[in-house]
Amino acid sequence: MSLAAICVAPNEPFVIDDIHVDGPRAGEVLVEIVASGLCHTDLTAIEGSNTSCVYPAVLGHEGAGRVVEIGPGVGTLAAGDHVIPLYGPECGVCKMCLSRRTNLCWSIKQTRDRGVLPDGTPRFSWRGKSLHHFMGTSTFSRYTIVPEIALAKIRPDAPLDSVCLLGCGVTTGVGAALDDVREGDNVVVFGLGGIGVNIVQGARIAGANRIIGVDLNPARRTIADDFGMTDFIDASAGRTLEAVRDLTGGGADVAFECTGHVKVMREALDCCHVGWGTCVLLGVEPRDATMAVPPVAVRYGRTVKGSYFGGVRGRSGLGRFVDLYMDGKLDIDRLITHRLPIHEINRGFEMMVKGESLRSVVSFA
Ligand SMILES: [Zn+2]
Ligand SMILES: [Zn+2]
Repeated sequence: MSLAAICVAPNEPFVIDDIHVDGPRAGEVLVEIVASGLCHTDLTAIEGSNTSCVYPAVLGHEGAGRVVEIGPGVGTLAAGDHVIPLYGPECGVCKMCLSRRTNLCWSIKQTRDRGVLPDGTPRFSWRGKSLHHFMGTSTFSRYTIVPEIALAKIRPDAPLDSVCLLGCGVTTGVGAALDDVREGDNVVVFGLGGIGVNIVQGARIAGANRIIGVDLNPARRTIADDFGMTDFIDASAGRTLEAVRDLTGGGADVAFECTGHVKVMREALDCCHVGWGTCVLLGVEPRDATMAVPPVAVRYGRTVKGSYFGGVRGRSGLGRFVDLYMDGKLDIDRLITHRLPIHEINRGFEMMVKGESLRSVVSFA
């Protein structure tokens, strides 16, 4: 039996109950989750707007834990290993992995997005009925089954109830900054939420010169200041483009968009320095939204690109981020505003909706 938060249907509170978890089959691993962060993507599943969530489901994708048991054919992990589940796997042999040009690995995407494991079946059941997996991770269960290719083994001395945030938010922001920011760059970040503040600290680690934050909510300044923001622009003043150009002497070297509003995406592009400025899109737009860009906005050297999970190949690349945290260069603990037992997960999401928390972490201890 495994204590779990069950999402029975959209817009219903989680039911906390014991569920049954089958043992690992070929290529699969049974993991005991120690802690899991609550992320906005889980909220989209709770609210019913996530098309890859099949109900009833066990949500959660920002966890960390220990290997309990390996299935047949698993060769890279053993019982006792500390792991972070990856919603983006790294199989190492598909066209995407072999390209060395992307961290996207779609080898098990089709089954993952149907809420089942790669063999087409789930391992969870409750009251005699199957429960679906979510994002291939389902970290809101004390015990979960994850494919070997979707587990990053990490050093055993890293505290699991902190590095769990490397499973999504922290890596997404910090990795994106480390990918595109060079020493001495002027950087602008639109949206200082969970991703934006991690871009700020990633840009600081990369040695950026100015790190300019833009947000409608001045209350978000505090943590961004702590993480290395050098300037703040209140977006409600309506003079963002001019202010960025003034602060940077003509435009940002790199602009990051983390709000998901297409108008802001366009503004981020316009803030980029002509000739080389790079605009990185991280915010997720409403369904069917389009972004209009006149060709001249990019013809003279600007680049628009996206970033997924910080450009990090999870199995081979996540260890670097754990090291940054253990060396005191990356702050994760400052992001965790609330720690809750799994029984209080509903309160955790209520605080997220109300904007009262930055990151809540639930634990099974
Ligand atoms: Zn997430
Ligand atoms: Zn692959």
